[in-house]
Amino acid sequence: MLDQNRIDSLRSAEVPPADHLIDGAHVPASDGGRLDVISPLDGKVLTTIARGTKDDVAAATAAARRTFVERVWADTAPAKRKAVLSKWAALVEEHAAELAVLGVRDNGTEIGMALKAEPLSAAGTLRYYAEAIDKLNGEIAPTDPSVLALVHREPVGVVGAIVPWNFPLMIGAWKLAPALAAGNSVVLKPAETASLSLLKLAQLGHEAGLPPGVLNVVTGEGAVVGEALGLSMDVDVLVFTGSGPVGRRLLEYSARSNLKRVYLELGGKSPNIVFADVPDLDEAVKVSANGIFRNSGQVCVAGSRLLVERSIHDEFVARLTTFMETMKVGDPLDLKTNAGAVNSERQLAQNLSFVDEARAAGRTVIGGARILEDTGGYFMEPTLVTGVAPGDRIAQDEVFGPVLAVIPFDTEADALQIANGTDYGLAAAVWTSNLSRAHRMIRGLRAGVVHVNTYGGADNTVPLGGVKQSGNGHDKSLHAMDKYLDLKTAWIKL
Ligand code: NAD
Repeated sequence: MLDQNRIDSLRSAEVPPADHLIDGAHVPASDGGRLDVISPLDGKVLTTIARGTKDDVAAATAAARRTFVERVWADTAPAKRKAVLSKWAALVEEHAAELAVLGVRDNGTEIGMALKAEPLSAAGTLRYYAEAIDKLNGEIAPTDPSVLALVHREPVGVVGAIVPWNFPLMIGAWKLAPALAAGNSVVLKPAETASLSLLKLAQLGHEAGLPPGVLNVVTGEGAVVGEALGLSMDVDVLVFTGSGPVGRRLLEYSARSNLKRVYLELGGKSPNIVFADVPDLDEAVKVSANGIFRNSGQVCVAGSRLLVERSIHDEFVARLTTFMETMKVGDPLDLKTNAGAVNSERQLAQNLSFVDEARAAGRTVIGGARILEDTGGYFMEPTLVTGVAPGDRIAQDEVFGPVLAVIPFDTEADALQIANGTDYGLAAAVWTSNLSRAHRMIRGLRAGVVHVNTYGGADNTVPLGGVKQSGNGHDKSLHAMDKYLDLKTAWIKL
């Protein structure tokens, strides 16, 4: 459906300046401020977005609150809400090519992955929660027969959603679809460097029949728009995907304002553990490489620590190095590209500083350079750092770039100890032919998802979320609905 000709016809389409979407209307910032959108493909200004102010956030939360109080969406029959979300999913599919290319020009993800992980994933998520809307029942509690006790599930009110730049449509839909399915009103704040496709997604939602004011999008800087949303007295629940430091601020904002519930999906330093009895070494090499290098490592669940049993360490590293040489890094709008651009100059500088520090500490670095093409874009080689000690910064802190830290281990107990030895707990993988060991590792690993003999598989039916400092609360699956629904007991004397 998306061939190279179609991509090429969209790659240089003009991108008009984008405004907020508040109360169903496209409006500029109240003080007229604009932010340049720099494309990571060439380092040039692609377009501008509205630079939101506190007043813009107030206008958006007021519109969301009004629609909730007036019950324009909350009291829409579930079957009607389902029809709107289903139509929205169909419109997203219809515009998938345009959405994917626009998103890539904004954030740099390789197009093959962007198409699947962005519009098509978002459409799937909208459809999944559309289907769920009219299957969520309340309860009748088994009380004394002199009483009828009912447990209602009610929308929480106004949801604030703050999302990152790596997969704006996919992650945006993980928040929007269940929040809106449950009957809430929403104010969404996209990342500064990935707002364009989300604005278009929201516009399609209105075309599908969302009433004005039920979904609002305010663009701009985190420290202004995000903070105002976090401090808003009109936001009942705040859902977030992003970095740990910003997650901590959101908890503070909640404490300083109305004690809104805050659900955080944060970073990771996920261990990918290869035992000597790995069923297929070449498959493990290929999947491990994709598990860190796709989207230039800008994936929250990326397998960024490779733990390899010492007896196969050198062989594994040699095969991985050979595989990395076959990966095509560069133009994200070329369907043959395996890894596209790093999102921003700032992120690229951060990636390179991690590598420089490891090199200075005497670790061996394979790859590790900025790829200087004549494009002026932000491209980086897939990078392997070997001889890493478990306590090194590169083994403890999230780089969020195409950088894999390799650590040898000797026993299962060692592997588990190293794997669990960071502040994070998002994802993990185990490669082994031993079923009992696989189950022991699943039980022992402190992570929200553990893959066995693969890396990165998931769909809407299963929750995604972390433990420890990778966050609280889960996106995806029916469990995600709990964040967006309150329980209310009705106690009726008969
Ligand atoms: P970030 O935390 O810098 O920004 C995320 C969002 O928060 C952006 O919209 C930003 O504008 C906003 N923000 C920034 N400062 C703010 C403030 N003071 N108050 C309120 N909002 C503020 O993260 P990022 O760089 O956009 O994304 C990368 C991070 O996201 C990585 O740590 C990655 O692991 C994480 N991530 C996690 C998951 C997951 O499911 N757990 C998924 C994807 C990304």
